[in-house]
Amino acid sequence: MENKKDIRALTKDELRDFFVQNGDKSFRGNQVYEWLWSKSAHSFEDMTNISKETRQMLEDHFVINHIEVDTMQRSSDGTVKNAVRLHDGLIVESVLIPTNTRTTACVSSQVGCSLDCNFCATARLKKMRNLNPDEIFDQVAAINQESLLYYNHKLSNIVFMGMGEPLMNYNNVLKSIEKITSPEGLGMSPKRITVSTSGIPKMIKKLADDDVKFNLAVSLHSAIDEVRSRIMPFSKAFPLKDLKEKTNSRITYEYVVWAGINDNKEAINALVKFCKYVPCKVNLIEYNPIDDGEFQQATPQAISDYISILEMNDVIVNVRKSRGKDIDAACGQLANKS
Ligand code: SF4
Repeated sequence: MENKKDIRALTKDELRDFFVQNGDKSFRGNQVYEWLWSKSAHSFEDMTNISKETRQMLEDHFVINHIEVDTMQRSSDGTVKNAVRLHDGLIVESVLIPTNTRTTACVSSQVGCSLDCNFCATARLKKMRNLNPDEIFDQVAAINQESLLYYNHKLSNIVFMGMGEPLMNYNNVLKSIEKITSPEGLGMSPKRITVSTSGIPKMIKKLADDDVKFNLAVSLHSAIDEVRSRIMPFSKAFPLKDLKEKTNSRITYEYVVWAGINDNKEAINALVKFCKYVPCKVNLIEYNPIDDGEFQQATPQAISDYISILEMNDVIVNVRKSRGKDIDAACGQLANKS
């Protein structure tokens, strides 16, 4: 069992070759590939148009390390949080966020996180490992099914804003997006996918070099180095001047306003200045305290000061209400508590 390979690590061509080498037709590889990716088969048993002998042969050679939804919680506002169990028993969380116009999946890219954003519950979990492309894909597929079940329509958007820093699992995140956007996977447009990073300059540059088509969001939270490194200590190694990398599309800055930290004019003016460097927009995100510590949501007045000054300076600004607070599914709250 231990020696069996996860069949989803094979490309379509490798799967076709496998069948030819085992005396079958290459198109059998297409059929199995479709089961694995478009139909999200959890086991070889599910592949009903494949003969019993062939299924047994696959069973003898491979495993399907599919995730299993371990627990599912539904919030009073319709948000759904999945705690998903990986093949090695580790757990990550993903969230379905419904609004009137869209349903969004928020997915995890790592088990735990190696970064140390002080406001984030995930930071308190040690990073165990990166997620494989299929484990990321499975989270999306599971949420797509829940969206169909509860809201009668397919998932419309995906954000990589769950547990982990996606750009520290760069290759697997990109491979998962390849599958999500492929017609043989979920066929979603890359324009509907946003990868959210805490800001790793080298990797942001790599995204531009690799000419990716999905959107990028950067958790900025402050445009003043000293303040930002108080919020996200790792960012001492990545000063803001290095974060001004151009990407191929408009970048989104995620920004939480906290009482006593960045709810002042100096912080707003620094943000306005920072927004001039590259085409961008700002999402002001409502915060959910994870304890009684130093990070508490600022007053509505402080938020409206941000909005009016940003708008006065022609910066596009949106306010993002947090969802799923009652089930610890909101931004910064994912910590495997369920
Ligand atoms: S906010 Fe993101 S990058 Fe920062 S500790 Fe939490 S999961 Fe990691």
